[in-house]
Amino acid sequence: MSVTAFSITYGSHELTFTVEVRPRRTLSISVHPDQRVHILSPPDVPLAQIQARVTRRAAWILRQQAYFQQFRPATPARRYVSGETHLYLGRQYRLRLEEAPKSQVKLIRGRLVVHTPRPADADHTAQLLRQWYQQRAAEQFQAVLQQCLPLLSEYQLPILPTLHHRYYQKRWGSCSPTGRITLNTDLIRADKSSIAYVILHELCHLIEPNHSRRFYRLLTQILPDWERRKAKLEKALV
Ligand SMILES: [Zn+2]
Repeated sequence: MSVTAFSITYGSHELTFTVEVRPRRTLSISVHPDQRVHILSPPDVPLAQIQARVTRRAAWILRQQAYFQQFRPATPARRYVSGETHLYLGRQYRLRLEEAPKSQVKLIRGRLVVHTPRPADADHTAQLLRQWYQQRAAEQFQAVLQQCLPLLSEYQLPILPTLHHRYYQKRWGSCSPTGRITLNTDLIRADKSSIAYVILHELCHLIEPNHSRRFYRLLTQILPDWERRKAKLEKALV
């Protein structure tokens, strides 16, 4: 995906920001309610120029962040206890921990049921859930890819993609020239239309490697509502 993280030093602050290249004429800086700083940049603006702009706006950015900070609830850390909700394919599921000799995670009647010999061991439960998400991701991402491929049937894909996943800090997916598409495992918490958006974005890179105008034209042809899906994904999984 297009989003890359950078930072500048401003006084005693380190300001981290993400840069997203878009087919547009001007550079814009926005500070989100979760205090993220996001830059929309036209193609081909040198990083040094973007950093200079962020430095010039740093005082304003810090004011915006301080303003949003006052509304922020302390983010409840995951505690891995019964009753807590966890996302899977865009839906919230309540967790239920059951003591059992064998560890296992299952979706049963709208509940995320974890069998574990140590229900009080949050780290162990976290690990079981993580493994479960990874297994689901492998299956579900592959299924969504198969639904996406026909949308590109008019275009000659130069190579047949292979699909992988891993946990990324700051990106939803990536695509290599050899056709290796890697999705962020965390996408398994998003709904399938969001997963399809990320897969299609990466598939378009097989035809148009850079975030050029041609890339966005292609993506818009294949998925006219991609911007809506992108916004939904970013709102759902912060
Ligand atoms: Zn991209």
